[in-house]
Amino acid sequence: MEKIRLIGMTLEELRRVCSECGLPGFAAKQIARRLYVNRAESIDEMTELSLKGRQRLNESYCVGRKAPKAQALSSDGTLKALFDGRGGRDVEAVFIPDHDRATLCVSSQAGCKMGCRFCMTGRQGFHGNLDSADIINQILSIPGSEELTNIVFMGMGEPMDNLPEVLKAIEVLTAPWGMAWSPKRITVSTIGKIPELKQLLELTKVHIAISVHSPLSAERAELMPVERVWPVERVIDLLRNYDFAHQRRLTLEYIMWRGINDDIAHADALARLVRGVDCRVNLIRYHALPDSDLQTASERTMIAFRDRLNEKGVTATIRASRGEDIQAACGMLAGEAKK
Ligand code: SF4
Repeated sequence: MEKIRLIGMTLEELRRVCSECGLPGFAAKQIARRLYVNRAESIDEMTELSLKGRQRLNESYCVGRKAPKAQALSSDGTLKALFDGRGGRDVEAVFIPDHDRATLCVSSQAGCKMGCRFCMTGRQGFHGNLDSADIINQILSIPGSEELTNIVFMGMGEPMDNLPEVLKAIEVLTAPWGMAWSPKRITVSTIGKIPELKQLLELTKVHIAISVHSPLSAERAELMPVERVWPVERVIDLLRNYDFAHQRRLTLEYIMWRGINDDIAHADALARLVRGVDCRVNLIRYHALPDSDLQTASERTMIAFRDRLNEKGVTATIRASRGEDIQAACGMLAGEAKK
């Protein structure tokens, strides 16, 4: 019988494990410390537990750490790692070092149901939700894990489509008994499933990133089917109710495609859409996918777009692209080892 993984468990869940294994209640915190602070890889390392207690734990449980199955290193230092996923599909996590920051882009699902036209993950369909153990394992087992300063839920999958497990992983990351990170070091990126986004906003203080990609509903629906159910205008209206000036940050992601969403009329429509919302806009270069009719906007167009938004009072920057040579850049994650 396969053993149950301890990583990814909350303190409450660890208390239940202790009670089941005849360990005292306070052992739950000791186990959490070993898992999330000392980064133990086996139960035998938890020497503050009695030998008998460790033996009982070992009967049904394991730590659950698993190193990546494959890795690829970009010429710019970005590292892509392949982890076990679901339904026969692996998932990828991307480690992005940048001066004094090191960001990990984590996956929350194997594949994705959302079917965005420009995304490699969306093309492969949905193969299953990762659980919090799978998510925390990406964070603890990525090479360079101890240098991490930031986590972004921007890898494969739509985090709002797997909210319970994403919330559990955030709890492990931020709780004093867990990794004790500030929520300001965590960003969750979503296409904007409103009910789940509202829950995330109420239950956590993490930064939020919204994939907008077009301010025009009919056009956005062609690119992102979610627009037909949860229009971006309603997403922005929801966000107006929250404070993004002090407690946390709101970023709007905007991939730029030639002749589709890169002209000044779109910049003006975007500025109108976000009027009164404290946010900044990230303009992102598109990385063309095989057989796609979408093309990257030119540098000149992107600069003009950025400048127009800035003139209209919307802070906008062109985001540097990382890891393109190993298919680790935005929209390119496919869950495959690069040869
Ligand atoms: S962009 Fe995000 S939500 Fe859309 S298909 Fe890709 S992973 Fe899913």
